[in-house]
Amino acid sequence: MLISKHELVALNEKLETLPPQEILQWAANTFPGRVAIASSMQKPTTALIHMAAHLGLDMTVVFVDTGVHFPETLALRDELIRRWGVRIHTATPAKSFEEQYAEYGRHLYMHDSETDPPGYQECCELRKELPFLEAVRGHYDCVLGGLTRSEGGARKNVAMLSLDPRLGAYRLYPLANWTSEQIDEYIAAHDIPVHPLYAQGYASIGCRTCTTPIKPGEPKRAGRWRHIREKNPALAAEGMYCGLNLEDKKPGNTP
Ligand code: SF4
Repeated sequence: MLISKHELVALNEKLETLPPQEILQWAANTFPGRVAIASSMQKPTTALIHMAAHLGLDMTVVFVDTGVHFPETLALRDELIRRWGVRIHTATPAKSFEEQYAEYGRHLYMHDSETDPPGYQECCELRKELPFLEAVRGHYDCVLGGLTRSEGGARKNVAMLSLDPRLGAYRLYPLANWTSEQIDEYIAAHDIPVHPLYAQGYASIGCRTCTTPIKPGEPKRAGRWRHIREKNPALAAEGMYCGLNLEDKKPGNTP
């Protein structure tokens, strides 16, 4: 289904007024059998997965296993399958982490690719973006994600519904106008399992190689690619993303 620019504006206005469950239902009705939820097992998308499962909606979860996730991340994925019978498609990079190391002769994630290419940007592209695009393109017309405007940075103005030309599909962020407190309340109210590393000071969780806990007062994304920012302080904590979301790929926001 192709939505004209004019319709997209009107649709966004309408979606802004709906609760997330109704937005999920709208997506399921509008793109029957062609809706995915992209999740890295963080709080916002586990809430979305719960909503979809609770409503009995036909949606597939797409999870990219970079090969260097925390074991807790994989355990949470498996727990959601066990608990709610969720259909999860795990996409994987073309090469294992070890094969990638052998090809380049070094760990790309350790290098600042602006001054020392190839580096972490290429690593994210190889291990996250390309497997994700391959898993989605041609298979789904609408891909839900967990971005919220309250995260700030590149996400502070994210549209609820937009076309992602890389995917040939619409990106939909049903929690765009929710705060992290609202997400926490939903999770608590429905006894949703959460990633155990949140309780250990992690605020945003990606690959174990590039994620650390945050210190008091630091922004939520300060734990991501800390080793790169320490080498290149010009890279703002809130300006570094893995590139899965088009919104994050504006100049200056990569990887
Ligand atoms: S987060 Fe780090 S290890 Fe994971 S894909 Fe990106 S650069 Fe590679």
